[in-house]
Amino acid sequence: MDPLLEDAARRADRYLARLGDRPVAPDDGAVAALESLREPLSKEGHSAADTLELLDRIGSPATIACAGPRYFGFVTGGALPATVAGNWLATAWDQNAGMRLGTQVGSVLEEVVLDWCVDLLGLPSGTTGGLVSGATMANLSGIAAARHHLLARTGWDVQEQGLFGAPELRVVVGDEVHASVLKALALLGLGRARVERVPVDAQGAMRADALPALDERTIVCVQAGNVNTGAFDPATEVVAKAREAGAWVHTDGAFGLWVAVSPNRERAAQWQGYEGADSWATDAHKWLNVPYDSGLVFCRHPDALRAAMTSTASYLLETGDREPSHWTPEMSRRARGVEVWAALRSLGRVGLGDMVERCCRHASRFADGLREAGYEVRNDVRLNQVLVSFGDDAATDRVLDAVQRDGTCWAGGSTWRGRRSMRISVSSWATGDSDVEKSLAAILRIAAGVRGS
Ligand SMILES: *Cc1c(COP(=O)(O)O)cnc(C)c1O
Repeated sequence: MDPLLEDAARRADRYLARLGDRPVAPDDGAVAALESLREPLSKEGHSAADTLELLDRIGSPATIACAGPRYFGFVTGGALPATVAGNWLATAWDQNAGMRLGTQVGSVLEEVVLDWCVDLLGLPSGTTGGLVSGATMANLSGIAAARHHLLARTGWDVQEQGLFGAPELRVVVGDEVHASVLKALALLGLGRARVERVPVDAQGAMRADALPALDERTIVCVQAGNVNTGAFDPATEVVAKAREAGAWVHTDGAFGLWVAVSPNRERAAQWQGYEGADSWATDAHKWLNVPYDSGLVFCRHPDALRAAMTSTASYLLETGDREPSHWTPEMSRRARGVEVWAALRSLGRVGLGDMVERCCRHASRFADGLREAGYEVRNDVRLNQVLVSFGDDAATDRVLDAVQRDGTCWAGGSTWRGRRSMRISVSSWATGDSDVEKSLAAILRIAAGVRGS
Protein backbone atom coordinates (compact mmCIF):
# COMPACT_ATOMS: atom_id res chain seq x y z
CA MET A 1 0.00 0.00 0.00
CA ASP A 2 1.17 3.53 -0.74
CA PRO A 3 2.77 4.66 2.54
CA LEU A 4 1.35 8.15 2.08
CA LEU A 5 -2.26 6.96 1.84
CA GLU A 6 -1.65 4.52 4.65
CA ASP A 7 -0.34 7.37 6.77
CA ALA A 8 -3.39 9.49 5.88
CA ALA A 9 -5.75 6.66 6.80
CA ARG A 10 -3.96 6.11 10.12
CA ARG A 11 -4.07 9.79 10.99
CA ALA A 12 -7.75 10.06 10.04
CA ASP A 13 -8.59 7.00 12.05
CA ARG A 14 -6.76 8.33 15.09
CA TYR A 15 -8.48 11.69 14.69
CA LEU A 16 -11.92 10.11 14.59
CA ALA A 17 -11.17 7.73 17.45
CA ARG A 18 -10.30 10.63 19.77
CA LEU A 19 -13.15 12.91 18.73
CA GLY A 20 -15.48 11.89 21.53
CA ASP A 21 -12.90 12.57 24.25
CA ARG A 22 -11.52 15.94 23.26
CA PRO A 23 -13.12 19.34 23.91
CA VAL A 24 -15.53 20.04 21.06
CA ALA A 25 -14.13 23.46 20.21
CA PRO A 26 -10.41 23.85 19.55
CA ASP A 27 -8.47 25.51 22.38
CA ASP A 28 -6.92 28.95 21.95
CA GLY A 29 -3.44 27.48 21.64
CA ALA A 30 -4.45 25.27 18.72
CA VAL A 31 -6.06 28.22 16.95
CA ALA A 32 -3.01 30.42 17.59
CA ALA A 33 -0.76 27.70 16.16
CA LEU A 34 -2.53 28.09 12.79
CA GLU A 35 -0.40 31.19 12.31
CA SER A 36 2.54 28.89 11.64
CA LEU A 37 0.81 27.91 8.37
CA ARG A 38 1.40 31.43 7.08
CA GLU A 39 4.87 30.53 5.85
CA PRO A 40 6.25 31.93 2.61
CA LEU A 41 5.56 29.61 -0.31
CA SER A 42 8.70 27.55 -0.65
CA LYS A 43 10.70 27.49 -3.85
CA GLU A 44 11.44 23.80 -3.96
CA GLY A 45 8.40 22.43 -2.21
CA HIS A 46 8.23 19.80 0.53
CA SER A 47 7.59 16.10 0.42
CA ALA A 48 4.00 14.91 0.43
CA ALA A 49 4.66 13.04 3.70
CA ASP A 50 5.96 16.18 5.36
CA THR A 51 3.00 18.17 4.03
CA LEU A 52 0.52 15.67 5.45
CA GLU A 53 2.34 15.60 8.78
CA LEU A 54 2.08 19.39 9.08
CA LEU A 55 -1.59 19.34 8.15
CA ASP A 56 -2.34 16.82 10.86
CA ARG A 57 -0.08 18.33 13.53
CA ILE A 58 -1.37 21.89 13.12
CA GLY A 59 -4.71 21.34 11.41
CA SER A 60 -6.34 18.51 13.36
CA PRO A 61 -6.19 20.16 16.82
CA ALA A 62 -7.64 23.35 15.35
CA THR A 63 -10.74 21.65 13.97
CA ILE A 64 -14.07 21.88 15.69
CA ALA A 65 -15.33 18.38 16.47
CA CYS A 66 -18.45 18.59 14.32
CA ALA A 67 -17.79 15.05 13.10
CA GLY A 68 -18.07 13.93 16.72
CA PRO A 69 -21.10 12.97 18.83
CA ARG A 70 -21.61 16.17 20.89
CA TYR A 71 -21.59 18.96 18.36
CA PHE A 72 -25.01 20.63 18.30
CA GLY A 73 -24.09 23.87 16.54
CA PHE A 74 -25.96 25.23 13.54
CA VAL A 75 -27.59 22.34 11.66
CA THR A 76 -24.53 20.41 10.75
CA GLY A 77 -24.56 16.64 10.89
CA GLY A 78 -21.49 14.45 10.79
CA ALA A 79 -20.32 12.07 8.10
CA LEU A 80 -21.40 8.43 8.16
CA PRO A 81 -18.51 5.94 8.00
CA ALA A 82 -19.57 4.64 4.57
CA THR A 83 -19.58 8.19 3.22
CA VAL A 84 -16.10 9.01 4.52
CA ALA A 85 -14.71 5.81 3.04
CA GLY A 86 -16.56 6.31 -0.25
CA ASN A 87 -15.30 9.88 -0.38
CA TRP A 88 -11.69 8.68 0.00
CA LEU A 89 -12.05 6.23 -2.85
CA ALA A 90 -13.83 8.74 -5.07
CA THR A 91 -11.15 11.33 -4.37
CA ALA A 92 -8.61 8.84 -5.63
CA TRP A 93 -10.73 8.40 -8.77
CA ASP A 94 -10.79 12.19 -9.31
CA GLN A 95 -13.72 11.98 -11.68
CA ASN A 96 -15.29 15.02 -13.34
CA ALA A 97 -19.00 14.68 -12.77
CA GLY A 98 -19.93 17.52 -15.10
CA MET A 99 -20.10 15.19 -18.08
CA ARG A 100 -21.19 11.67 -18.73
CA LEU A 101 -17.96 11.09 -20.61
CA GLY A 102 -16.07 12.51 -17.63
CA THR A 103 -17.44 9.78 -15.42
CA GLN A 104 -19.82 6.99 -16.22
CA VAL A 105 -19.82 5.75 -12.63
CA GLY A 106 -20.40 9.21 -11.15
CA SER A 107 -23.24 9.85 -13.59
CA VAL A 108 -24.96 6.56 -12.91
CA LEU A 109 -24.69 7.01 -9.13
CA GLU A 110 -26.35 10.43 -9.46
CA GLU A 111 -29.24 8.91 -11.35
CA VAL A 112 -29.54 6.17 -8.74
CA VAL A 113 -29.65 8.58 -5.79
CA LEU A 114 -32.08 10.94 -7.49
CA ASP A 115 -34.42 8.02 -8.14
CA TRP A 116 -34.05 6.74 -4.59
CA CYS A 117 -34.76 10.16 -3.12
CA VAL A 118 -37.81 10.78 -5.30
CA ASP A 119 -39.15 7.48 -4.01
CA LEU A 120 -38.14 8.04 -0.35
CA LEU A 121 -39.67 11.51 -0.24
CA GLY A 122 -42.80 10.58 -2.16
CA LEU A 123 -42.13 13.15 -4.87
CA PRO A 124 -44.20 12.90 -8.05
CA SER A 125 -43.01 10.43 -10.67
CA GLY A 126 -41.10 12.18 -13.42
CA THR A 127 -39.38 14.43 -10.89
CA THR A 128 -35.71 14.85 -11.62
CA GLY A 129 -32.94 16.99 -10.26
CA GLY A 130 -29.29 17.66 -9.78
CA LEU A 131 -26.48 17.33 -7.24
CA VAL A 132 -25.17 20.66 -6.06
CA SER A 133 -22.91 22.03 -3.34
CA GLY A 134 -25.64 22.63 -0.76
CA ALA A 135 -29.10 24.01 -0.14
CA THR A 136 -28.12 27.51 -1.23
CA MET A 137 -27.33 26.27 -4.72
CA ALA A 138 -30.31 23.94 -4.61
CA ASN A 139 -32.55 26.91 -3.79
CA LEU A 140 -30.95 28.87 -6.61
CA SER A 141 -31.52 26.00 -9.03
CA GLY A 142 -35.14 25.43 -8.06
CA ILE A 143 -35.98 29.13 -8.24
CA ALA A 144 -34.14 29.43 -11.58
CA ALA A 145 -36.39 26.67 -12.91
CA ALA A 146 -39.40 28.58 -11.57
CA ARG A 147 -38.24 31.80 -13.20
CA HIS A 148 -37.83 30.04 -16.52
CA HIS A 149 -41.16 28.26 -16.33
CA LEU A 150 -43.31 31.25 -15.38
CA LEU A 151 -41.68 33.54 -17.94
CA ALA A 152 -41.71 30.94 -20.72
CA ARG A 153 -45.48 30.76 -20.32
CA THR A 154 -45.64 34.44 -21.24
CA GLY A 155 -43.45 33.83 -24.29
CA TRP A 156 -40.32 35.25 -22.67
CA ASP A 157 -37.07 33.25 -22.77
CA VAL A 158 -35.20 34.49 -19.71
CA GLN A 159 -32.05 32.54 -20.52
CA GLU A 160 -31.73 34.27 -23.89
CA GLN A 161 -33.23 37.66 -23.13
CA GLY A 162 -32.43 38.21 -19.49
CA LEU A 163 -34.78 40.08 -17.17
CA PHE A 164 -34.62 43.57 -18.69
CA GLY A 165 -38.02 44.20 -20.20
CA ALA A 166 -39.41 40.88 -19.00
CA PRO A 167 -42.89 40.59 -17.52
CA GLU A 168 -42.60 41.04 -13.74
CA LEU A 169 -42.57 38.05 -11.47
CA ARG A 170 -43.76 38.19 -7.88
CA VAL A 171 -42.03 36.29 -5.10
CA VAL A 172 -43.86 35.39 -1.89
CA VAL A 173 -41.91 34.15 1.15
CA GLY A 174 -42.62 33.62 4.82
CA ASP A 175 -41.23 36.27 7.13
CA GLU A 176 -38.88 33.58 8.49
CA VAL A 177 -37.42 32.82 5.05
CA HIS A 178 -33.85 31.51 5.19
CA ALA A 179 -31.11 33.92 4.13
CA SER A 180 -30.01 31.53 1.38
CA VAL A 181 -33.34 31.88 -0.41
CA LEU A 182 -32.94 35.65 -0.36
CA LYS A 183 -29.41 35.22 -1.68
CA ALA A 184 -30.68 33.01 -4.49
CA LEU A 185 -33.31 35.63 -5.36
CA ALA A 186 -30.61 38.30 -5.42
CA LEU A 187 -28.41 36.22 -7.73
CA LEU A 188 -31.34 35.54 -10.05
CA GLY A 189 -32.24 39.20 -10.47
CA LEU A 190 -35.47 38.75 -8.53
CA GLY A 191 -34.30 40.93 -5.67
CA ARG A 192 -34.26 40.47 -1.92
CA ALA A 193 -36.25 43.55 -1.02
CA ARG A 194 -39.14 43.22 -3.47
CA VAL A 195 -40.39 39.94 -2.00
CA GLU A 196 -43.82 39.85 -0.39
CA ARG A 197 -43.38 38.63 3.17
CA VAL A 198 -46.15 36.59 4.77
CA PRO A 199 -46.52 37.03 8.55
CA VAL A 200 -45.62 33.98 10.62
CA ASP A 201 -47.02 32.31 13.72
CA ALA A 202 -45.23 31.91 17.05
CA GLN A 203 -43.15 29.02 15.69
CA GLY A 204 -42.10 30.96 12.60
CA ALA A 205 -44.39 29.13 10.16
CA MET A 206 -46.11 31.10 7.44
CA ARG A 207 -49.70 31.94 8.38
CA ALA A 208 -51.88 30.41 5.69
CA ASP A 209 -54.65 32.93 6.43
CA ALA A 210 -52.24 35.77 5.66
CA LEU A 211 -51.15 34.49 2.25
CA PRO A 212 -51.68 37.18 -0.43
CA ALA A 213 -53.66 36.41 -3.58
CA LEU A 214 -51.45 34.41 -5.95
CA ASP A 215 -51.31 34.47 -9.72
CA GLU A 216 -49.59 32.74 -12.61
CA ARG A 217 -46.55 34.98 -12.29
CA THR A 218 -45.83 34.22 -8.65
CA ILE A 219 -43.16 32.06 -7.06
CA VAL A 220 -44.03 31.04 -3.50
CA CYS A 221 -41.11 29.83 -1.39
CA VAL A 222 -42.13 27.58 1.48
CA GLN A 223 -39.86 26.24 4.17
CA ALA A 224 -39.76 22.71 5.55
CA GLY A 225 -37.85 23.11 8.81
CA ASN A 226 -37.11 26.54 10.26
CA VAL A 227 -33.44 26.85 11.29
CA ASN A 228 -34.40 27.98 14.75
CA THR A 229 -37.60 26.16 15.67
CA GLY A 230 -37.80 23.38 13.07
CA ALA A 231 -41.29 24.63 12.09
CA PHE A 232 -42.95 23.77 8.78
CA ASP A 233 -44.94 26.18 6.63
CA PRO A 234 -48.54 25.09 5.89
CA ALA A 235 -47.68 23.45 2.57
CA THR A 236 -51.07 21.89 1.96
CA GLU A 237 -52.85 25.24 2.01
CA VAL A 238 -50.13 27.04 0.08
CA VAL A 239 -49.96 24.38 -2.61
CA ALA A 240 -53.74 24.33 -3.03
CA LYS A 241 -53.87 28.09 -3.53
CA ALA A 242 -50.85 28.06 -5.82
CA ARG A 243 -52.33 25.29 -7.97
CA GLU A 244 -55.52 27.20 -8.43
CA ALA A 245 -53.63 30.34 -9.41
CA GLY A 246 -50.97 28.71 -11.59
CA ALA A 247 -48.19 29.86 -9.26
CA TRP A 248 -44.96 27.90 -8.63
CA VAL A 249 -44.15 26.54 -5.18
CA HIS A 250 -40.49 26.11 -4.26
CA THR A 251 -39.55 24.29 -1.06
CA ASP A 252 -36.50 25.07 1.06
CA GLY A 253 -36.15 21.78 2.90
CA ALA A 254 -32.46 22.02 3.73
CA PHE A 255 -32.79 19.63 6.64
CA GLY A 256 -36.49 19.40 7.49
CA LEU A 257 -37.35 17.58 4.31
CA TRP A 258 -35.81 14.40 5.73
CA VAL A 259 -38.60 14.19 8.30
CA ALA A 260 -40.49 12.48 5.49
CA VAL A 261 -38.57 9.26 6.21
CA SER A 262 -39.27 9.19 9.96
CA PRO A 263 -40.99 5.99 11.13
CA ASN A 264 -42.93 8.15 13.59
CA ARG A 265 -46.11 8.92 11.71
CA GLU A 266 -47.00 12.06 13.53
CA ARG A 267 -43.54 13.41 12.93
CA ALA A 268 -43.47 12.43 9.27
CA ALA A 269 -46.88 14.08 8.79
CA GLN A 270 -45.15 17.45 8.99
CA TRP A 271 -43.99 16.76 5.44
CA GLN A 272 -47.57 16.39 4.21
CA GLY A 273 -48.47 18.72 1.39
CA TYR A 274 -44.90 19.44 0.35
CA GLU A 275 -44.99 16.69 -2.25
CA GLY A 276 -47.39 18.95 -4.13
CA ALA A 277 -44.72 21.64 -4.66
CA ASP A 278 -42.95 22.22 -7.97
CA SER A 279 -39.35 22.22 -6.77
CA TRP A 280 -37.48 21.18 -3.64
CA ALA A 281 -34.05 22.00 -2.25
CA THR A 282 -32.21 20.03 0.38
CA ASP A 283 -28.80 19.40 1.86
CA ALA A 284 -27.10 16.05 2.03
CA HIS A 285 -24.31 17.40 4.25
CA LYS A 286 -26.72 18.20 7.06
CA TRP A 287 -29.14 15.52 8.16
CA LEU A 288 -28.14 12.90 5.61
CA ASN A 289 -24.69 13.00 7.24
CA VAL A 290 -22.44 13.04 4.20
CA PRO A 291 -19.20 15.06 4.01
CA TYR A 292 -19.22 18.63 2.69
CA ASP A 293 -20.24 19.84 0.28
CA SER A 294 -23.42 18.24 -0.92
CA GLY A 295 -26.98 19.25 -1.70
CA LEU A 296 -29.82 18.16 -3.94
CA VAL A 297 -32.39 19.96 -6.05
CA PHE A 298 -35.53 18.25 -7.33
CA CYS A 299 -37.95 19.57 -9.90
CA ARG A 300 -41.34 18.31 -10.98
CA HIS A 301 -40.92 19.97 -14.39
CA PRO A 302 -37.70 18.52 -15.85
CA ASP A 303 -37.88 20.81 -18.89
CA ALA A 304 -37.81 23.91 -16.71
CA LEU A 305 -34.76 22.90 -14.67
CA ARG A 306 -32.96 21.72 -17.77
CA ALA A 307 -33.73 24.92 -19.68
CA ALA A 308 -32.49 27.02 -16.77
CA MET A 309 -29.23 25.08 -16.38
CA THR A 310 -28.30 23.80 -19.80
CA SER A 311 -25.19 24.90 -21.63
CA THR A 312 -23.60 23.73 -24.81
CA ALA A 313 -20.16 24.08 -26.35
CA SER A 314 -18.69 22.44 -29.40
CA TYR A 315 -16.17 20.41 -27.43
CA LEU A 316 -18.75 18.99 -25.02
CA LEU A 317 -19.62 15.69 -26.58
CA GLU A 318 -23.03 14.42 -25.67
CA THR A 319 -23.77 10.77 -25.29
CA GLY A 320 -27.53 10.92 -25.49
CA ASP A 321 -27.76 9.93 -21.83
CA ARG A 322 -28.45 12.33 -18.97
CA GLU A 323 -25.68 14.92 -18.89
CA PRO A 324 -25.13 15.95 -15.26
CA SER A 325 -24.14 19.55 -16.07
CA HIS A 326 -27.49 20.19 -17.77
CA TRP A 327 -29.14 20.05 -14.34
CA THR A 328 -26.86 22.16 -12.14
CA PRO A 329 -25.21 25.59 -12.15
CA GLU A 330 -21.73 24.02 -12.16
CA MET A 331 -20.01 22.39 -15.08
CA SER A 332 -16.91 20.56 -13.79
CA ARG A 333 -17.37 19.21 -10.31
CA ARG A 334 -16.59 16.23 -8.13
CA ALA A 335 -18.67 13.06 -8.17
CA ARG A 336 -20.96 14.08 -5.30
CA GLY A 337 -23.32 11.21 -5.90
CA VAL A 338 -20.82 8.83 -4.33
CA GLU A 339 -21.37 9.86 -0.72
CA VAL A 340 -25.13 10.31 -1.04
CA TRP A 341 -25.29 6.85 -2.52
CA ALA A 342 -23.03 5.43 0.20
CA ALA A 343 -25.20 6.99 2.92
CA LEU A 344 -28.46 5.70 1.51
CA ARG A 345 -27.12 2.30 0.54
CA SER A 346 -25.47 1.66 3.89
CA LEU A 347 -28.44 2.87 5.94
CA GLY A 348 -31.30 1.51 3.89
CA ARG A 349 -34.82 2.81 4.49
CA VAL A 350 -34.95 1.62 8.06
CA GLY A 351 -31.52 2.92 9.00
CA LEU A 352 -32.26 6.32 7.48
CA GLY A 353 -35.59 6.60 9.26
CA ASP A 354 -33.98 5.55 12.55
CA MET A 355 -31.24 8.13 12.22
CA VAL A 356 -33.75 10.93 11.68
CA GLU A 357 -36.04 9.75 14.45
CA ARG A 358 -33.16 9.26 16.88
CA CYS A 359 -32.06 12.88 16.41
CA CYS A 360 -35.61 14.07 17.08
CA ARG A 361 -35.83 11.91 20.21
CA HIS A 362 -32.53 13.33 21.45
CA ALA A 363 -33.88 16.84 20.89
CA SER A 364 -36.96 16.00 22.95
CA ARG A 365 -34.79 14.65 25.75
CA PHE A 366 -32.79 17.89 25.79
CA ALA A 367 -36.02 19.88 25.90
CA ASP A 368 -37.49 17.78 28.74
CA GLY A 369 -34.32 17.92 30.80
CA LEU A 370 -33.98 21.67 30.40
CA ARG A 371 -37.66 22.28 31.17
CA GLU A 372 -37.54 20.08 34.26
CA ALA A 373 -34.64 22.16 35.54
CA GLY A 374 -36.81 25.26 35.17
CA TYR A 375 -35.47 26.72 31.96
CA GLU A 376 -37.70 28.03 29.21
CA VAL A 377 -37.81 25.97 26.02
CA ARG A 378 -38.98 28.47 23.46
CA ASN A 379 -40.11 26.26 20.59
CA ASP A 380 -42.42 23.30 20.11
CA VAL A 381 -39.87 20.52 19.81
CA ARG A 382 -41.32 18.49 16.97
CA LEU A 383 -38.12 18.06 15.00
CA ASN A 384 -34.41 18.12 15.90
CA GLN A 385 -34.18 21.75 17.08
CA VAL A 386 -34.35 23.09 20.63
CA LEU A 387 -34.32 26.78 21.56
CA VAL A 388 -33.75 27.45 25.23
CA SER A 389 -33.41 30.58 27.29
CA PHE A 390 -31.59 30.74 30.64
CA GLY A 391 -33.20 33.95 31.85
CA ASP A 392 -32.49 37.35 30.36
CA ASP A 393 -30.27 37.85 27.29
CA ALA A 394 -27.16 38.44 29.35
CA ALA A 395 -27.64 35.26 31.37
CA THR A 396 -28.31 33.21 28.23
CA ASP A 397 -25.19 34.58 26.55
CA ARG A 398 -23.11 33.83 29.65
CA VAL A 399 -24.33 30.24 29.67
CA LEU A 400 -23.68 29.91 25.94
CA ASP A 401 -20.17 31.21 26.27
CA ALA A 402 -19.42 28.97 29.25
CA VAL A 403 -20.84 25.88 27.52
CA GLN A 404 -18.74 26.53 24.45
CA ARG A 405 -15.62 26.97 26.60
CA ASP A 406 -16.35 23.93 28.74
CA GLY A 407 -15.98 21.71 25.69
CA THR A 408 -18.25 18.81 26.69
CA CYS A 409 -20.58 19.83 23.88
CA TRP A 410 -21.07 22.78 21.59
CA ALA A 411 -24.30 24.68 20.85
CA GLY A 412 -24.69 28.02 19.14
CA GLY A 413 -26.75 31.08 19.99
CA SER A 414 -29.59 32.68 18.13
CA THR A 415 -31.90 35.60 18.54
CA TRP A 416 -35.46 34.34 18.30
CA ARG A 417 -38.33 36.81 18.47
CA GLY A 418 -36.07 39.44 19.94
CA ARG A 419 -34.55 37.33 22.68
CA ARG A 420 -31.28 35.43 22.92
CA SER A 421 -31.50 31.66 23.03
CA MET A 422 -29.25 28.67 22.95
CA ARG A 423 -29.95 26.66 19.83
CA ILE A 424 -29.39 22.92 20.15
CA SER A 425 -29.55 21.12 16.84
CA VAL A 426 -29.24 17.34 16.90
CA SER A 427 -28.30 16.24 13.41
CA SER A 428 -25.51 13.69 13.69
CA TRP A 429 -25.65 9.94 13.21
CA ALA A 430 -22.92 9.73 15.87
CA THR A 431 -24.90 11.14 18.80
CA GLY A 432 -26.01 8.48 21.28
CA ASP A 433 -28.12 8.57 24.43
CA SER A 434 -25.05 8.84 26.65
CA ASP A 435 -23.84 11.86 24.65
CA VAL A 436 -27.14 13.58 25.25
CA GLU A 437 -27.05 12.82 28.99
CA LYS A 438 -23.46 13.98 29.30
CA SER A 439 -24.19 17.18 27.36
CA LEU A 440 -27.39 17.91 29.24
CA ALA A 441 -25.60 17.43 32.56
CA ALA A 442 -22.86 19.83 31.46
CA ILE A 443 -25.34 22.48 30.31
CA LEU A 444 -27.36 22.24 33.54
CA ARG A 445 -24.23 22.35 35.72
CA ILE A 446 -22.92 25.40 33.86
CA ALA A 447 -26.29 27.17 33.83
CA ALA A 448 -26.71 26.63 37.58
CA GLY A 449 -23.23 28.03 38.15
CA VAL A 450 -23.83 31.10 35.99
CA ARG A 451 -27.14 31.83 37.65
CA GLY A 452 -25.73 31.27 41.10
CA SER A 453 -22.84 33.66 40.53
C1 LIG B 1 -28.53 25.40 5.99
C2 LIG B 1 -29.78 25.93 5.35
C3 LIG B 1 -29.75 26.49 4.07
C4 LIG B 1 -28.46 26.71 3.32
O1 LIG B 1 -27.80 25.52 3.07
P1 LIG B 1 -26.25 25.47 2.69
O2 LIG B 1 -25.98 24.02 2.63
O3 LIG B 1 -25.51 26.16 3.78
O4 LIG B 1 -26.08 26.15 1.38
C5 LIG B 1 -30.94 26.88 3.51
N1 LIG B 1 -32.10 26.76 4.18
C6 LIG B 1 -32.18 26.24 5.42
C7 LIG B 1 -33.51 26.12 6.09
C8 LIG B 1 -31.01 25.81 6.05
O5 LIG B 1 -31.08 25.26 7.27
